[in-house]
Amino acid sequence: MSFRDRPINLDEKGRRKWVYAKKPRGKWYTRRTIFSWFILLFLVAVPFIRINGNPLVLLDIAGRKFILFGAIFWAQDTFILALLMLSFILFIILFTVTFGRLWCGWACPQTIFLEMVFRKIEYWIEGDYRKRYRLDQGPWTREKILKKSAKHAIFILISIAMTNTFLLWFIGTEKWFALISEPIQEHLSGFTTMLIVSAFFYWVYAYFREQICTMVCPYGRMQGVLLDSGSIVVSYDYKRGEPRGAKTSGDCIDCRQCVSVCPTGIDIRDGLQLECINCTACIDQCNSVMKSTGKKPGLIRYDSENGIRNGHATIWNARNKAYSAVLLILFSFFIYTLFSRPVIETTILRTPGLLYQENPDQTISNIYNIKIVNKTHDELPLEIRLLSHDGKITMANNNLTVDDQARFESTFILYIPREKLSSDKTEVEFGIYSNNELIETCKTSFVGP
Ligand code: SF4
Ligand code: SF4
Repeated sequence: MSFRDRPINLDEKGRRKWVYAKKPRGKWYTRRTIFSWFILLFLVAVPFIRINGNPLVLLDIAGRKFILFGAIFWAQDTFILALLMLSFILFIILFTVTFGRLWCGWACPQTIFLEMVFRKIEYWIEGDYRKRYRLDQGPWTREKILKKSAKHAIFILISIAMTNTFLLWFIGTEKWFALISEPIQEHLSGFTTMLIVSAFFYWVYAYFREQICTMVCPYGRMQGVLLDSGSIVVSYDYKRGEPRGAKTSGDCIDCRQCVSVCPTGIDIRDGLQLECINCTACIDQCNSVMKSTGKKPGLIRYDSENGIRNGHATIWNARNKAYSAVLLILFSFFIYTLFSRPVIETTILRTPGLLYQENPDQTISNIYNIKIVNKTHDELPLEIRLLSHDGKITMANNNLTVDDQARFESTFILYIPREKLSSDKTEVEFGIYSNNELIETCKTSFVGP
């Protein structure tokens, strides 16, 4: 059977073949471990870091409010968010075209949690790959029950901790503290969500594992179109390594150590494969083999197909230059729209279901709903004036002060003298003032007889 016939972790009947990866050791694994501490610290700390009283990042989908590094986006900023999203997607494409799956190996939360948290606990409790294999295949002894119970209990606790960390990103610290400190019946939906997501995380890291990368992740499946012969990926130097074998002229002694350490179970010597998450474990393992055989390291290394074929890798080519140019334009447009957006966002609409009222003082009145989003970090005292006609506005509540980063909703009545109206539907324009300064205008319609 060729490795291209079916995923390496499935047998001929399509059943799961468990990958018993050997614990990686070496320079790259140490670097990745240190880097993963920073990522984990970032994930936990971000919701607690505050800028002007707001979290550094908040993805409040229910409240339709997003805070990204101090910049606040409301539902009305969908266009700006879409620009940011497009820039991010293009950045990922550019990054992947140039550096392959660097993200997967170094920064993806799935890899960080699986390789740097859950698998390390597994190595600690059950030992390295051979011991784990023997434990799994052996009978249910007291030792096996104890080890499996301890491992899964810790996995469950970490899954709950992970869920709470992600909840902090989506609901913020205040709501999260309320969720964990107040009676469960007051937050039944939040508590149920937390349990379901925790159960999902536990299932992923205890059982499903590397299949997320090899079968589910859409980013992994896009590699076929994103990577080219100039992309820097974890590569086997076939020019140096072949012909492989213990007594051949190639540097590869065919010890299969690089395969034993691979968390997705593949053989990097078969070339670029979508299962390869560029975790660098095989680089470390092969380097230690090269050291013991007296050969120079780097038989498996970060390099491009062009680099291996021609002896030197060139990062820049027409493709990533074009992506960079488009990304620069798109991101500049995003920055421009971000900094030129109005400080408040006002929506004024006639109250649905109501027409007009004829008043004894010869005025016609309409009732309006007004929504104002204050996007500044200051409390804003506001005032609404009618710019297009002589008329009078009566607000439902006298105080029109909108807190910083808050949304204001109210109702008001607009009175216009009958003789000022020329048709049954007139366009009217309002001005929103703060401290006598016009900061936004808003148009809507006024109906009359
Ligand atoms: S670890 Fe290195 S020497 Fe051993 S099989 Fe893999 S590529 Fe060949
Ligand atoms: S082939 Fe190497 S870099 Fe790719 S997933 Fe396996 S061990 Fe990691």
